[in-house]
Amino acid sequence: MTGRLARILLPLPLDSSYTYRLPDALADRAEVGMRATVPLRGRTLIGIVTGLDAEPPRREAKDVTSLPDAGPSVSPSLLELVEWMARYYGAPLGLALRAVLPGALWGSDSGAAHRDERILTLEADRPTLLEREQLFRRRPRQRELYEAIEALGGAAEVSHLRTRLGFSDALLRSLEANGYARVSRSPVFRDPFADLPPTPLPGKLSPAQRSALVALADVPVGGTALLYGVTGSGKTLVYLEAVRQVVDAGGSAIVLVPEIGLTPQTVSRFRGAFGDQVAVLHSGLSDGERADAWHLLQSGQRRVAVGARSAVFAPVPGLGLIVVDEEHEATYKNGEAPRYHARDVAAMRARLEGARLILGTATPSLETFARTEGNDATLTLLRLPDRIESRPMPPVELVDLRTAAVVKELLPVQWTTLLDDAIRQVLERGEQAMLLLNRRGFANFLQCSQCGTVRQCPNCSIALTVHHAPSGLRCHYCDHAEPVPPACGECGGAVQQMRGVGTQQLEQAVAMRFPEARLARMDLDTTSTKWSHQRILGAVERGEVDILLGTQMIAKGLDFPNVTLVGVVDADTGLFLPDFRAAERTFQLLAQVGGRAGRGPRGGRVLVQTRAPKHPALRHAAHHDTDGFLRLELANRAAPAYPPYVALVNAVFSGQDELAVSAAAARFAEWSGKLFEKHALPLEVLGPAPCPVARVRERWRWHVLVRGPGRSIGRYVRAAARVASRHREPRLMLDRDPVTLL
Ligand SMILES: [Zn+2]
Ligand SMILES: [Zn+2]
Repeated sequence: MTGRLARILLPLPLDSSYTYRLPDALADRAEVGMRATVPLRGRTLIGIVTGLDAEPPRREAKDVTSLPDAGPSVSPSLLELVEWMARYYGAPLGLALRAVLPGALWGSDSGAAHRDERILTLEADRPTLLEREQLFRRRPRQRELYEAIEALGGAAEVSHLRTRLGFSDALLRSLEANGYARVSRSPVFRDPFADLPPTPLPGKLSPAQRSALVALADVPVGGTALLYGVTGSGKTLVYLEAVRQVVDAGGSAIVLVPEIGLTPQTVSRFRGAFGDQVAVLHSGLSDGERADAWHLLQSGQRRVAVGARSAVFAPVPGLGLIVVDEEHEATYKNGEAPRYHARDVAAMRARLEGARLILGTATPSLETFARTEGNDATLTLLRLPDRIESRPMPPVELVDLRTAAVVKELLPVQWTTLLDDAIRQVLERGEQAMLLLNRRGFANFLQCSQCGTVRQCPNCSIALTVHHAPSGLRCHYCDHAEPVPPACGECGGAVQQMRGVGTQQLEQAVAMRFPEARLARMDLDTTSTKWSHQRILGAVERGEVDILLGTQMIAKGLDFPNVTLVGVVDADTGLFLPDFRAAERTFQLLAQVGGRAGRGPRGGRVLVQTRAPKHPALRHAAHHDTDGFLRLELANRAAPAYPPYVALVNAVFSGQDELAVSAAAARFAEWSGKLFEKHALPLEVLGPAPCPVARVRERWRWHVLVRGPGRSIGRYVRAAARVASRHREPRLMLDRDPVTLL
């Protein structure tokens, strides 16, 4: 026999490697962790060498076609991390491997790096709302287009307006012909992270920051520190100093942020501190640019990786520190297999590579908080109890919508006179306000006044949301869109009422109430293009916006000192969802958005409109009592038991035949119960039951929840993963440590 044999793992839903033969020309330089191109069923694929001199296969092995790189792409410790992820989350090994390298390294470069793109930009001189009534009186579609571009920050890609928002070419041309907008060619918008002005570093460390850093030095290698500091307490400066110490010692660091588009200030601080040493991995990068950044990090030319979830796999040599900012954020959970949580992967990677981990937050997740309450020697608690420069936390007032006076002209928007007066004062003083409403679209749903029928998505079991600009009904699960029907589809009734207010309607109401105020709206509809977050946030930072309104997006780590008022228009939108984390999420959202107020010397206040002012999540948020809320919520999770007291697996079946889906879920629940008996596992099955959102994209969904001690859950997941890999239709998806049950 000639040549050596190599085990190659392919980035496919497979649980094991295949054996290939290394031709003599390649045999000498083959190493574990290298990329290798191999033939598979008539295709050429890129895989990773996971072993050499393997056992000869039963059949004749095919030849490795080439080894494209000089050295390994996946380090031994990253390979170990891949194996851990596959085992822990019950995911196919090949998919766990695929997650750790950027797409371009698997040969899937789309090549769309620098495509020329036409941009439609509004002229700087914008008509007021009153002037618009005149200008667009007979051209309502032009007004819709105009206001859609305005909502996108004053400029938008032509292709986005046409394909995603459905405006016709003729309409785009007429807006230009009328002199309201002009078309230009990109690159008008450049990567804002490429030449973001570095933010000068704040001066000296406060005593609290300094003692946090001192304590950090005592965290054992492989250990975790929780940096628990109120909003505005200067956590970023602690991260910067900790990273600097690692870089000065010749090591590398990874900094994870929940959504990079929403945290430009954090990015610019790292740029300011480390300049060319930083590689920013963000979703705006093309595949090619992402691969470039990957190579710069792997070769050690860049020593600090800043990015969202997947940056936890950045190939830095000599990893000394991982920072997970806002560790409680649900965006750290991957939405497809492997369904990993970046915070937990970071902890495992830090252990494997002998690095330290910092989890930073103002509102710890219950999982992390519970570790501080017990005797967990692997977690060091570091507190920053006060805002920097002793700025007070803004007072939070709960406004009871059941009794407060509202401005009747703005109904159905619940606009209390308290909020109205507060906004007016902010505008008079030339300051800025933020308004949170965690529901996008114009209205929540459309209801027939005669028979009460609510228009539903034909593919999902969920009401369609009413949108304006462009007008129509849209499904927020599958993006199905249809025109607003002239009459009820059930009874033919002509009167249709819009129920529930969304951000678009709020924007319209605020514009009517404060015609002089300059507004910007930030939600999924205004930020779906490449640099739209930056455009909107940049305008706020430059003082070109008086009122920023939007969904939870505006609650992230923004620091605008001139924002002196935060209004929460309806705090109850997420409070009563059928999910055990509903109260935790609501508290986090209120604490985060409230933290945006009063970060400058002028102070600030927070008004929270609600119909449930006695709810513990709201009461504790109003008192800035995070510990109190977490302790109470922890007690609530004890019985019936939910995480962090038990581990949880959500097994979701989906398929087009509802009976087949429910039957498969029932069989699986029964199989699970028998497995527990056979192996004496102290686990409990809940369900089967339809998922709270019972149908998505024409597929019915049923789920089975399993809870119990983590060790037993681990054994169960490995057995269930084998069942899942045999399921084709209905499909079975396993979600260990789920962040949502909807
Ligand atoms: Zn009807
Ligand atoms: Zn749908």
